[in-house]
Amino acid sequence: MKDLDIILKYQELDIKLRKANDALEKSKSYENMEKARQDFSIAKKTRDDNEKTAENILSYVESAQKLSKEINAMLDRLAKKEEITDEDIAQLEKAKAKLSEVEAKISERKGQSEKIIREFLDAGEQGKKHKTAFEDNKKEFMELKATKQPEINELTKELKALEEKISPEVLKLYKSITAERKFPAFVDAYVDKDSYYCRGCGIALSQAKTSEYKNNPYCICEKCKRVIYKKG
Ligand SMILES: [Zn+2]
Repeated sequence: MKDLDIILKYQELDIKLRKANDALEKSKSYENMEKARQDFSIAKKTRDDNEKTAENILSYVESAQKLSKEINAMLDRLAKKEEITDEDIAQLEKAKAKLSEVEAKISERKGQSEKIIREFLDAGEQGKKHKTAFEDNKKEFMELKATKQPEINELTKELKALEEKISPEVLKLYKSITAERKFPAFVDAYVDKDSYYCRGCGIALSQAKTSEYKNNPYCICEKCKRVIYKKG
C-alpha cells in the first residue's frame, strides 16, 4: 500500500490523541461536573414550575379580590336606589356566583400552596448545592485538562502535518472507519493454515476477498469494514 508508513504513523498518533481525550472525558471530575449540571437544571425546572403554579393561584386570589370589590360597589349603588329591579338582583347573583366559583378554586389549591412554597425553597437550596459542586469539579477538571493539553496540542499539530501527506481518498476512508470508534482502522492480515484473517475482527477472509487482497494494495474486511493492508 502506498504511503503505508505515513498512514500507520498517523494511526498511531491518532490513537494516542483519542486516549488523551478519553482520559479527560472519562475522568471523575468531568463526570461529576456533567452530573451537577444535569441536577442543577432539574432543580431549576422544579423552581420554575412551582413559580408558575404560584402565579396561577395568585391570579385567582386577585380576581376574587376584584369580584368582591365589584359586589360591594353594586350593593352601595343598590342601597341608594329607590326601586330595585329584577335585573339588579340577577346581576348581583351572577357576580356572587362567579365569586364562589373563584373561591372554590382557591380553596382547592390551599393545601397545594404550602407544598409549592416548600418545594420552591428546597429546589433553591438544591440548586445552590449543585452549582457549587459544578464549580468545584470544573476547577478540578480544568487542572487535569491543563496537564493533558500540551500533549493534545502537540498530537493535533503532528496529525495535521501528516494529513497533508496522505491521499484525500485514503484519509476519508480512515476517518469514516474511526468515526464508528473502530481503532485501529487499518490492520494487516495474518495467515493460519493457508487462510487469511483480518487482524481487526479475527474473521477469515472469503476466497473472493483473499484473491482481492492478493491482487490489490488493500481490501475492505467483509465483516468489520476495516482496511486490511498489505505490508511492503
Ligand atoms: Zn475485520
